[in-house]
Amino acid sequence: MSLPHRQSIPTRFPQEDNPGGIYVHVPFCRTRCSYCGFTSGIYDPDAKVRYIRSILREIELYAHLAKRTAREFFFNTVYFGGGTPSLLDPEDVSRILVQIRSHLNVVPEEITLEMNPGTVDRARLSSLRRIGINRVSLGIQSLLDSELLLMGRSHAVADAYAAFRDLRAAGFDNVSLDLIAGFPSQTLESLKRSLDSILDLRPEHVSVYLLEVKPGTRLHRLIDAGELPGPDEDLAADMYETLCRDAKEAGYEHYEISNFALPGKQSIHNLKYWTDCVYIGFGPGAHSMDGRTRYANFRDLTDFEKAVEAGDLPIEIKTKLTPEMRFKDALIMGLRLVGGLNLELISERYNVDALQFIKKTVGDLLDQGLLRMQGEILLLTDRGRLLSNMVFSRWV
Ligand code: SF4
Repeated sequence: MSLPHRQSIPTRFPQEDNPGGIYVHVPFCRTRCSYCGFTSGIYDPDAKVRYIRSILREIELYAHLAKRTAREFFFNTVYFGGGTPSLLDPEDVSRILVQIRSHLNVVPEEITLEMNPGTVDRARLSSLRRIGINRVSLGIQSLLDSELLLMGRSHAVADAYAAFRDLRAAGFDNVSLDLIAGFPSQTLESLKRSLDSILDLRPEHVSVYLLEVKPGTRLHRLIDAGELPGPDEDLAADMYETLCRDAKEAGYEHYEISNFALPGKQSIHNLKYWTDCVYIGFGPGAHSMDGRTRYANFRDLTDFEKAVEAGDLPIEIKTKLTPEMRFKDALIMGLRLVGGLNLELISERYNVDALQFIKKTVGDLLDQGLLRMQGEILLLTDRGRLLSNMVFSRWV
């Protein structure tokens, strides 16, 4: 349906007062997890050297070829995601950071690096802290060895505890722990055991990945072959309710569908995706959105490398965003926030009558109690968060 427009469409995003984020994708892992659908290959030292050379070149090319974003935008976060960024040497991470700082307007408030247990020791962690990494997202996923084995993780529970202890010893005071919910064979009781142990550690942040079984993964094949049970939606709903309740009781704010934080410790970088900010992604498979266009880089390292060697940005897919696409993206991402989305602000930004649009497209979901209005704020209800994919599908 077409949007109920007000006047003309603004073409620029706020800048100084609403900085963007930089994402760096590191496409290597030690092994392949059974459920993994991310852009990642098995680590080998030669590929790493090629990757570092190419990403440094990509950042330099970006500064020359994407002059508008490189010169006009201001960024305050850098996020190393993967893959397993902790497989990079601290010197590699430092070179990437130096390249970013020397080519873009960046004053990083938050520099996050994703880590997997078993890939770091105290000396490396101290080096990472020294070069400016001030937030870590640690992929614990479960605190039961039997589940880690089925997940195909390359670490054991003891490695997770050791990594957390080493992070604290190295001075990291902003750590997020990742947990998977809804994995086949996981029970409400086993999830609760992992969650209780995680909450006992008092990380500043907890992210929960509600498992989706992706086609092409080993897990998908195991379920197809009847070797593991398929997803159980009722159990996943019970798990989600338990997570939300227990995290809240432990003093964590549930601020996004899958994210919980101690006061003031929300992920500044990830909030950018949910609050309609510009983000630029470097590395194979990385995505960018500059307010006008969405870009997706080549996922394959060789294609990525060839493009930058030829002096081109390694973009595989470029999607010009219409005002309607931008509005709907902002709506979907903003509704992920538990605090909801201010319809008056989004109306102003896109010159759209957002309330009228909501009533026309999801009025029945308001009546059914999946969405609710609180003044100018539109929110998913507790039940709506469980069915958020169904709600969002109305706008895609
Ligand atoms: S660590 Fe993450 S990116 Fe790497 S294989 Fe496992 S799920 Fe995939």
